[in-house]
Amino acid sequence: MVREHNSSACPESCAPGGPVRTCVGCRERAAKSELLRIVLGTDVDGRPAAVPDPGGSAPGRGAHLHPTSVCLDRAVRRRAFPRALRAGVGLTGEPVREYLAARPT
Ligand SMILES: [Zn+2]
Repeated sequence: MVREHNSSACPESCAPGGPVRTCVGCRERAAKSELLRIVLGTDVDGRPAAVPDPGGSAPGRGAHLHPTSVCLDRAVRRRAFPRALRAGVGLTGEPVREYLAARPT
């Protein structure tokens, strides 16, 4: 995990528009508020899975993703979730897909 900010020299609050995160799908930077936080959880069958954390309140390591199927597909193809969440490569992103499918667009 590369630290992009020296927190003492550049507090995130100094950035216009608030904190910025990198989307694990397209690798573009965006305001944290525009991205969906993804954390390590379990799917309906109890297997390890990348799950959405819309409130951004879940503890532990998180990844950030544009809430779109395009960026989700890219993240899954690049195995970005297992890498970002320090999980096994079998990690499924299906709960995120279901979450996005249920979202009004
Ligand atoms: Zn993206």
